[in-house]
Amino acid sequence: MSLIKCPECNKEISDSAFKCPHCGKVIKKAKRGIMGKIFLWLFYGFNILMLWWMISGMSGAAKEAATAVSEAEKAGAAIGTGLGFMMIIFIWVLGDIITGLLAIMTRPKN
Ligand SMILES: [Zn+2]
Repeated sequence: MSLIKCPECNKEISDSAFKCPHCGKVIKKAKRGIMGKIFLWLFYGFNILMLWWMISGMSGAAKEAATAVSEAEKAGAAIGTGLGFMMIIFIWVLGDIITGLLAIMTRPKN
């Protein structure tokens, strides 16, 4: 960290500052740090993964229901599918909150 001169008011400011603390001139645009990038991609990747899980779960459940012979098996498959979907949605929402919060917390600040 070193000091540079503000191009607007000529006062010395830190080179890590995004904005001049004296006149408010924007020195450089705030950038997402490496952790911010990781969390942002984690958020996107998580949503893609959950979507894929939901789709593959749906096709798997449809197959299971089609091969079920007895009523009890059909009911079991339906309950299992319902619970499975509730679990997927629960994990999805929870994961979105966690990864979303991390992405927001690591957002560039001015
Ligand atoms: Zn300034």
